[in-house]
Amino acid sequence: MTQAPILPGAIIGVLGSGQLGRMFAMAARRMGYRVHVLSPESDTPAGQIADVEFTAAYDDLDAIRTFARGVQVVTFEFENVPAGTAEAAAQFAPVRPNGMALHVSQQRAREKAFLRDRGFPVTPFAAISTEADLDGALASVGTAGVLKTASFGYDGKGQARVGSADQARAAWNGMGRVEAVLEAFIDFACEVSVVGARGVDGWTATYGLIANTHAHHILDVSLLPAGVPPAVAERAAEIARGVLEALDIVGVLCVEFFLTHGGELLINELAPRPHNSGHLTIDACTCSQFEQQVRAICGFHLGATDLLQPAAMVNLLGDLWSDGEPDWAAALALPDVKLHLYGKASARPGRKMGHLTVLAPTREQARDRALTARRLLAPEYAVRAHL
Ligand code: AMP
Repeated sequence: MTQAPILPGAIIGVLGSGQLGRMFAMAARRMGYRVHVLSPESDTPAGQIADVEFTAAYDDLDAIRTFARGVQVVTFEFENVPAGTAEAAAQFAPVRPNGMALHVSQQRAREKAFLRDRGFPVTPFAAISTEADLDGALASVGTAGVLKTASFGYDGKGQARVGSADQARAAWNGMGRVEAVLEAFIDFACEVSVVGARGVDGWTATYGLIANTHAHHILDVSLLPAGVPPAVAERAAEIARGVLEALDIVGVLCVEFFLTHGGELLINELAPRPHNSGHLTIDACTCSQFEQQVRAICGFHLGATDLLQPAAMVNLLGDLWSDGEPDWAAALALPDVKLHLYGKASARPGRKMGHLTVLAPTREQARDRALTARRLLAPEYAVRAHL
């Protein structure tokens, strides 16, 4: 250990105040830390758990400096924190992960180029800022692709599947001709992710490979273990360790991959923070991804990532509220179901309201049980939505 750790009792600052900040704050407070959060909103998922909730815009640099002056370390729960904000905070407290990880991961073209240039496997892509770039991209990537805005896209927002040059042009015009990337459409066998962490001392740790299925571009179900050959899981962990080192991350990182039918792993995207697919680590692993973030950014040894039992996580989106309040009693009548709700006052379609986790002897049993519990929450909606 090269630096003295930040001890329990200290104040950790979190930029952003959604569910990731909430679960981080729960882990940090359990370990005896105080937590300050900052975001433009109030009564937020993280603010409800934090010791102090600051309400300020991310570009209000005076507020950011005041916030950073009052804490011993700053972390964040989303990668779209503006570079100037991270820099202002870094004048007063270490920002972990560092600004470079933010800079790279908040722009798709930059992230993909960073990875490709260092030999990491990425989906074939081309960056687009002009009409000529688009023509070049169609020539190099092909016309079967996914056009994505370069900035501020997540959960499929700012994305269009295209099948011809005309569709690609129309989609780009529809996006307002903003900076974008054209990616080859990957006919993947499945989507998988690795959550990993790196400490101040450079040591890394990874959780087992997680299999993810999406519905309408939003994560729906995660299973650990992923059910792929051990060599694939080991290769994914090796790539994640490489990315943690390349970005000099102190904290947690998630690498999302497409696994092709030929067994090849292609990085889809990075998140330099805990990730939705890692939520099952709270119940299923010795040390959760949130405790791991606390350990890493405070300068401690990383925690054990062992899986206690196969696990499944299903997301609870606002859609489940479409017929009224979900039937919590029905789902909680299953004694092995773990309910996590994020304290959000209003349920909108597509909004992540919470998740369920189930542990079982096999991943399939865990998945079936979690899906059953979700159906019980809103039986009529579940039939309509084919849940
Ligand atoms: P993203 O926001 O980039 O993670 O994309 C959301 C989801 O869209 C992914 O998890 C995939 O299910 C799908 N998707 C994105 N890019 C591609 C691609 N190049 N080929 C096939 N499916 C994709």
